[in-house]
Order: sequence, then C-alpha cells, then structure tokens
Amino acid sequence: MSTPIIVMGANGRMGRTICTLVQEDPAFTLAGVVERSEFAAGLDALPCPVSQNVEELLQGLDGKAVVVDFTAPEVSLATARSVARFGAAHVIGTTGFTNEQKQELARLAESCRMFWAPNMSIGVNVLLKVLPELTRALGDKYDIEMVELHHNRKKDSPSGTALRLGECLAEARGWDLDDVRCSARDGIIGERPKAQIGIQAIRGGDVVGVHTIYFMGPGERIEVTHQAHSRETFAQGALRAAAWLCGQQPGRLYGMQDIF
Ligand code: NAD
Repeated sequence: MSTPIIVMGANGRMGRTICTLVQEDPAFTLAGVVERSEFAAGLDALPCPVSQNVEELLQGLDGKAVVVDFTAPEVSLATARSVARFGAAHVIGTTGFTNEQKQELARLAESCRMFWAPNMSIGVNVLLKVLPELTRALGDKYDIEMVELHHNRKKDSPSGTALRLGECLAEARGWDLDDVRCSARDGIIGERPKAQIGIQAIRGGDVVGVHTIYFMGPGERIEVTHQAHSRETFAQGALRAAAWLCGQQPGRLYGMQDIF
C-alpha cells in the first residue's frame, strides 16, 4: 500500500521537488498540498487537494499520512502541533529553529512520530559520522573553521547544516558549539583563541549548498567539502525518512542518524 504524503510549502524550492518525486514513486501517493494562497499559483494542476490549512487535509486520512515540511520555523512548529493532534507523522527539513522551538518539537515528538534533519543528504550524514574520528585523530593542534555557501534567497545564517556540522566538531573536542562559535571577524580582534570554531556564511546566486571544513595545523591543512548539486538529494532523503517513519513509534525526535 502506498503511503499518503502531504507536502507543506508545495510551491517552494524544496516543496516543488518533493511533489515531483512523490508523483514518480509508486511507494507514495500525493494526498494533498499546503501553500499560502498568494503563492499557490499553478498548484491546482496537481492530482490532489490544495489547501491553506494542513488540518483540512489530515481530516479523513485516519493518521496514515506523512506530512513532509520544508517551510519556515514557525510554520513547521504550528504544523507539528496539528500533526500531533491528528496522530499523523511529520518529516521536517526546515532550518533556523531557536533552541526553544527545538525543545517544543522534542516535546511534541513524545506523542507523535516526528523526524527532523537540517540536512537530508546521504553525504552530509555520512560526514557527521566520520568527522568526530578525523577531529580526534588530528588532535587539538589543528584549528577548525568552516565556510558555507548558499543561494541569495536563503533566510537563515549560518545554515542549519553548518550548525549541525559545527556541533559535531565541537562535541569531538569536548566543547559546546554555543561557547566556541565565531561567525563574524572585523577590526582588531587579536589572535585566534584555541577554543574556537569559525563558521562563515557566503550568499549569492543559485548555489544549492556547499560546506567546507578546514583543519589547519602546523605545516599542513585538510579541507573536507560537501557540495549539493541539486535539491533532489534532500528530497530523496526526506522521502526515505517518510517511509522509515511510518514503521516507528512516537517517543523522541528522530533524525538521519537513526535511519543509517
Ligand atoms: P522556499 O522559500 O523556496 O519555500 C518555502 C515555502 O513554504 C514557500 O513556498 C512558502 O510560500 C511556503 N510557506 C510559508 N508559509 C507557509 C504556510 N503557513 N503554509 C504553507 N506554506 C507556507 O524555501 P526552500 O528553499 O524550499 O527551503 C525551505 C526550508 O527548508 C528552509 O528552512 C531551508 O533552510 C530548508 N532546507 C532544508 C534542507 C534539508 O535537507 N533539511 C534542504 C534544503 C532546504
């Protein structure tokens, strides 16, 4: 039986990609799409109901639907409350949540199947597995910095992926990213402290997403780069998460590392 998918923000960059992939995959059915009325042009060509309200679509699906959501933090949080009320499942790709918003998602996930990943690509999630080993093997003589590039429409900075990678690097050093992150350098700032991870953001054009981590030590440097060539890699990851989430129980906020 194919899994009914509801796509939030269906006319967004990610929403459009997900709608296309869902229609091509017999494992899924496009059960409905949600979009703001002023951005909904063209969606009536889709073979499913179009709404401005996810609850309208969740009614009648008997908790079987998975809502796939790449929108904005406050929208995803409101959607999570609706999904929990209807006993459905929620795959969230949105980035830019505050710590308080993440805590509310985690609370909702205790009673609702919920999944969040700031980057759904296989490559970035494999990187998250190997970076701690690389960081520890190099030792603390190596300064760690990161540069991320994204398109000029991106709203949050640094990217959710950069923050997740940064958390992973900081943990490997026994640090808390909030204590050691430096995202701006300007003026007479003095020597670089040892306990620091720089994360700089570049914005322009239509760059889907590039993250480079620099390990800079005495006499040498390692650069690890992930480049997303298209949004399809994130959309495929989101659908893989949707299929996986159907077989899970509520309890906690799941992430990509749970699937691997
Ligand atoms: P976008 O601006 O192109 O799309 C967002 C869409 O959400 C828009 O169409 C907008 O109209 C819609 N929207 C806003 N409010 C809404 C509401 N109340 N109801 C329904 N729809 C609403 O943005 P995008 O590039 O598709 O990215 C969306 C989010 O996904 C961002 O936070 C981005 O950082 C994140 N993202 C995550 C990954 C990942 O792998 N996790 C990958 C790419 C993007």
